[in-house]
Amino acid sequence: MDVSHNPALPLTWRDGYARLGPTFATPWQATPMTDLQWVSVNHRLAQDLGLPHDWYQRPGMLDVLGNGQPLPGASTVATVYSGHQFGVWAGQLGDGRALLLGESLPPPGAALGPQEWQLKGAGRTPYSRMGDGRAVLRSSIREYLCSEAMHGLGIPTTRALSLVSSPTPVFREEPETAAVVARLAPSFLRFGHFEHFASRDNVQALEQLIDYVDAENFLALPRTQPGRERALALLDVVVQRTASLMAQWQSVGFCHGVMNTDNMSLLGLTLDYGPFQFMDGYHPGHICNHSDHHGRYAFDQQPRVAHWNLFCLGQALMPVVDDVQATVEVLNTFTARYEQAWGVQVARKLGLPASASATTLGDAFLALMARQQADHTGAWRGLSHAVRDWSGRSDDTTSFAELGHQLGADDAWDRWLSDYLQAVLQTTSSPAACGEAMRRVNPAYVLHNHLGEIAIRRAQEGDFSEIETLLSLLSDPYDDRPGFDAYAAPAPPWAQSIAISCSS
Ligand code: AMP
Ligand code: MG
Repeated sequence: MDVSHNPALPLTWRDGYARLGPTFATPWQATPMTDLQWVSVNHRLAQDLGLPHDWYQRPGMLDVLGNGQPLPGASTVATVYSGHQFGVWAGQLGDGRALLLGESLPPPGAALGPQEWQLKGAGRTPYSRMGDGRAVLRSSIREYLCSEAMHGLGIPTTRALSLVSSPTPVFREEPETAAVVARLAPSFLRFGHFEHFASRDNVQALEQLIDYVDAENFLALPRTQPGRERALALLDVVVQRTASLMAQWQSVGFCHGVMNTDNMSLLGLTLDYGPFQFMDGYHPGHICNHSDHHGRYAFDQQPRVAHWNLFCLGQALMPVVDDVQATVEVLNTFTARYEQAWGVQVARKLGLPASASATTLGDAFLALMARQQADHTGAWRGLSHAVRDWSGRSDDTTSFAELGHQLGADDAWDRWLSDYLQAVLQTTSSPAACGEAMRRVNPAYVLHNHLGEIAIRRAQEGDFSEIETLLSLLSDPYDDRPGFDAYAAPAPPWAQSIAISCSS
């Protein structure tokens, strides 16, 4: 194995996905930009990687994380994948503006294992098609902050280590500032990587991919025979991880916005932050992507779309599995697995043990929220506080009065509250402890569009301080930070005018 050390970035490097060769990844170099500057560095992630605190100040680091300067021991590559976009086969896509720098191996004692490093926005690649290979500051700030917000929430995601910008203009509707996010994951494999080789009838490449996933232990696959058995085991694990991810997205009101199969991580990570949104006022059919005219990726469609996407993955594995019935059987486990995972999530949010009646109570709470389009994050957090402050007497509901007011304060609310308090009393003798536990699963802070927008507007004027504030707040979203109430408040009316499209 060719591994090597970089004195400035003191990690051991090797080719990760690039090891598979040119059928999978094309050796490629970034197109450098001038006058790069750091917009933000994620110190917490750097620490988990085992990097020294001053790593980013060392010579050449901006060139590595902005301009893709190759690391010793690793070759920079762009990978090829295909996919279904908005339900239609789109053919070959690939890393049009992403470049893999290589795979880092952790120093002894590091919290994180091996990671692939990828730059987004480093210039054109053989897969750029009509695009310029660049990313703009606005969308890069959103990706940088949201991936860390998801990690703070405990939801599987790609991570973001750094954000750099360059005055080199990038043309979208108007000239904008160029930026590069360095993002990390054990693997950036997408459903689309498998679909690509299946569409080319390249069974050997498909088998090689499955071997690679197994050998690198990305999915902790059970030991099976190679071939059919292992491909089915892979599908089974991906179905489970995807079902669990969907339940977690739904639990915090996260809309991805572009659930094309090329944006679906094989590892069940949240991947490719584009027109995403954390729900403001709760509306189950909310469409966050202004380019999604038919609402294919509306909030309440996400689990169903994930299932559809898994069918694409199952179809792609068919040349290896060669058994339609066995494949469909695995795919059909999705609904029960999703419902199980959702039941666990919603019960934790209510402070109750998972059960059919807890799920019913959770769904009814969401229905009350939907009537008023109440703030999704605020309502769950409000419920946690009301339980924490409750006396435990069923005739005393004062701690719930404010939440009740937000949710309509009518008979439907009274009935729900009475059922809920009864369930809480059956579970715990300490509402305070129950409410405290609920505060660990119902966040105070999420990356609302308007918070990101304020950070973006300031950054465009050269002030990056709001990015630091949000990074710090969103990294620990369950802790109330004194003086930061405004960040937990419902979206202001102007937030509705923020239009987030695929333009990035
Ligand atoms: P997305 O909608 O961002 O997931 O992108 C879909 C495909 O378009 C992927 O293959 C991207 O790499 C590619 N792409 C998106 N934006 C650009 C760009 N500015 N330059 C080159 N390729 C791009
Ligand atoms: Mg994408």
